[in-house]
Amino acid sequence: MLQEDGIMSVKGVGEKAVEKYQKIDIETVGDLLEHYPRDYDEVRPIREIRTIKEGELVAIEANMVSRPQMKLKGSLKILTTVMTDHSGKMLDVTWFNMPFLKNQLHMGTVYILRGRVAKKRDRLVMEQPKIYTKQEFYNIVGKLRPIYPLTKGLTNNAIIKSMEIALKESEDILEYLPKDIRTRNNLIGYKKAVKDIHFPKQKEDLREARRRLVFDELFLYILALKHIKQSAIQKKSTHLIKRDPEVEEFKNALPFDLTNAQDKAYDEIMKDMASGNVMSRLVQGDVGSGKTIVALLCLYEVVKNGYQGALMVPTEVLASQHVKTFQGMLGDRLVVDQLTGAMTAKEKKTVKERLKAGEIDIIIGTHALLQEDVEFSDLGMVVTDEQHRFGVRQRETFFKKGEEPHVLAMSATPIPRTLALILYGDMDLTVIDEKPANRLPVKNALVGTNYRENAYVFMQKRINDGEQCYVICPMVDESEDSDLENVTIYAEELRTIMPPAIRIEALHGRMKPKQKDEIMEKFAAHEIDILVSTTVIEVGIDVPNATTMLIENAERFGLATLHQLRGRIGRGSAQSYCIFMMGVTTQESKERLQVLERSNDGFYVASEDLKNRGQGDLFGTLQSGEKVFTLADIYEDASILEAAAEEAKKYSLEKLFSEQKDLTNVKRSFQGVENQNIRLMKKISQYMGDVTL
Ligand code: ADP
Ligand code: MG
Repeated sequence: MLQEDGIMSVKGVGEKAVEKYQKIDIETVGDLLEHYPRDYDEVRPIREIRTIKEGELVAIEANMVSRPQMKLKGSLKILTTVMTDHSGKMLDVTWFNMPFLKNQLHMGTVYILRGRVAKKRDRLVMEQPKIYTKQEFYNIVGKLRPIYPLTKGLTNNAIIKSMEIALKESEDILEYLPKDIRTRNNLIGYKKAVKDIHFPKQKEDLREARRRLVFDELFLYILALKHIKQSAIQKKSTHLIKRDPEVEEFKNALPFDLTNAQDKAYDEIMKDMASGNVMSRLVQGDVGSGKTIVALLCLYEVVKNGYQGALMVPTEVLASQHVKTFQGMLGDRLVVDQLTGAMTAKEKKTVKERLKAGEIDIIIGTHALLQEDVEFSDLGMVVTDEQHRFGVRQRETFFKKGEEPHVLAMSATPIPRTLALILYGDMDLTVIDEKPANRLPVKNALVGTNYRENAYVFMQKRINDGEQCYVICPMVDESEDSDLENVTIYAEELRTIMPPAIRIEALHGRMKPKQKDEIMEKFAAHEIDILVSTTVIEVGIDVPNATTMLIENAERFGLATLHQLRGRIGRGSAQSYCIFMMGVTTQESKERLQVLERSNDGFYVASEDLKNRGQGDLFGTLQSGEKVFTLADIYEDASILEAAAEEAKKYSLEKLFSEQKDLTNVKRSFQGVENQNIRLMKKISQYMGDVTL
């Protein structure tokens, strides 16, 4: 029997059963073997009746001391009897709708019964126990019995029977992982793992079986991603980028030295772009780690090599800021312009014409850059900032625009490393794990609303010292939630509270882009002291002189969002302060927010965030019943994931294919990985980017 054979070929599985199995997506023997138990029932040794408590599932070995009696209760046939063991205690036993037992059970005989004990009218009663012979019981005692996901008409016992046969008779449950990988990672054999995941003799067996199968699942998943990457992205590039001395000069003239991590990222990117292949790299760095300058240097190089560059960002505000930064730093060395949805049709038209004619070197914009009619003269590199907000599909759109530009994705959303491996397994990864040296860690305070007055006094002091502040409120629409602080009203009230010299403005997503720009510009130019804002400023905004942030109703935000918000301060050399103010203080929200108080490390915060929200939320089911992984749990199995990723580096699907005779498992795992990954990406975009602008 082979794994690809229909389930019919398992002895005892008839047409009826086939239909039932189909309902739980089991068509082949292989599907059946992959139908893992959802839990295990540990059959414990026989207990004395006198030690039994309500609610327990126990086995007893006892004498039947009363003749089984049948009662009718409506249509329910209830059979009752009484058992006693050497401990002298009696125990009532009942079976429902099993009238035939009446003639099979005999008073004065010793039976082994196993069932759950309930309390009825103050008496303990074992309900619906299974009856075992001594032999049967000793066969299962001490073992873990699998409990399978079921469907109507298919019992656990039926599945167990079929599973035993399938395990015994399948000829192709063969080892396919290279021996060195197994040795290095201490993995048990594949066949033993498949057997033990269903019928472990003891907990230790189960643990090892699971570890092996989880490893396989993740290893093959990553290999499959790698395969996709190689076939789809690692194409020959027509854009060979060499380092240009002018960029080197420019770099040396910067007012600061790059951090080691920035230097390393810059190096890796330049190596990629000189390699002859199309680059696909993700640069991950916590807020404030200085990703922009790295992108700028690389784009500069691309332009010096005769090509164009594009930088795509999620918001208009961020686009304008980047344009200003780029123009400010590059001066008239390069032509930098922008393309956003907020521009007039005429403005857009002009920019598009200039782009096509090659008159613009670096274009910075929002998703407007993705539109069909945007053409380039020769696009050499695309950088996306906060790319998890763009879909994978959108990322692909760029490939159609130029002759396959190099792609650099930058993300400040600190996706935990393990998650990044799964999500961006098709990209190379650079982590900027260091912040510029002049930074002091942000000081955090988690407070209730009674602290507001103090917070205002504190802000005044900061402003008197020449610094600036943010106040963040959750929402702008009054009608939505009256108890939430409203940005405009809040700003007005704050003006009456604060001394008149303090300049206060509001910023929210409902404003026209031009208005938003103006306000951001004024804030950056220090013409505003306190910016009262919604989360529009969450992503990317960089005003180093802003040192203090007060977040109202902090409990309403996710940890990842709060960390992003906090990333707006602590960007200069002065000490920064973040005040998380809870509108409603519950123990739960307090504990959740304490994570931010404890740590300024985005990776830590993100992993705590995911832990809190539970991977069930993210990975459990994408759509009803659609699991991403059968066994693996990205959190629980993080260390296995790391190990699998490490091994996957040295391997490829092709290599595995060429070494193995039997590929059933490899093929099975490969199926659907691509779609799965796209689904996962979508899900995580929703998950990470659930911010109302
Ligand atoms: P993010 O990684 O969050 O996008 P930015 O690129 O906006 O961070 O950088 C944050 C701030 O740090 C900017 O004002 C930038 O000019 C500054 N910066 C970047 N690199 C360095 C460095 N090596 N030393 C000092 N300041 C730096
Ligand atoms: Mg940034």
